[in-house]
Amino acid sequence: MPGYGANPVSGGNSVSHEPHVEDRGHSGLEGLREVAEENRRLIESLDVHMEALTRRVCPTCRDVCCISRHGRPAADDLVYYKALNLVPPPSEPDRPDTSPCHQLGASGCRLPRAERPYRCTWYFCTPLIEALDRLPARQARVLDAQLSRLSSARIRLVETHAAIEADPLHPDPYGR
Ligand code: SF4
Ligand code: SF4
Repeated sequence: MPGYGANPVSGGNSVSHEPHVEDRGHSGLEGLREVAEENRRLIESLDVHMEALTRRVCPTCRDVCCISRHGRPAADDLVYYKALNLVPPPSEPDRPDTSPCHQLGASGCRLPRAERPYRCTWYFCTPLIEALDRLPARQARVLDAQLSRLSSARIRLVETHAAIEADPLHPDPYGR
């Protein structure tokens, strides 16, 4: 599905600097928890804006994106949930990919935004992008900056986890 921008957690992002082992005390599990908390704060701060946009466009949508396949947590979501001691939403692998997501209720998603799979916040369909384009310039700039910060924080989450995985002295308790 198209997104607001390139998926920040795919496309070959890699750890550009392998930290020394002694650096990893902080950039390890504690660092992962901190960056996951940062992700959560940024997602929560986006919620009011995203809700305003989706309220405008989703009620008339004829191709609702909240299908089972999109509601399943990705591997990186599982890292995020685990770092924050959150219970991931069930994957329901037996549910057909294109059937309505089991989190979808009469008033939209039942999950708090920060507990949804990342793609549920990052996904911008064409009507959402058009609604974004109609925002007053200042509001659009603020939202764009928030999305940029979230994208960077998500990359840091993935990189921090990758660094833990790569460190033979720190077996990854968040293994995927
Ligand atoms: S986000 Fe876009 S595709 Fe998804 S339900 Fe709303 S309008 Fe439809
Ligand atoms: S926003 Fe909620 S209902 Fe929609 S796909 Fe994501 S988890 Fe499912």
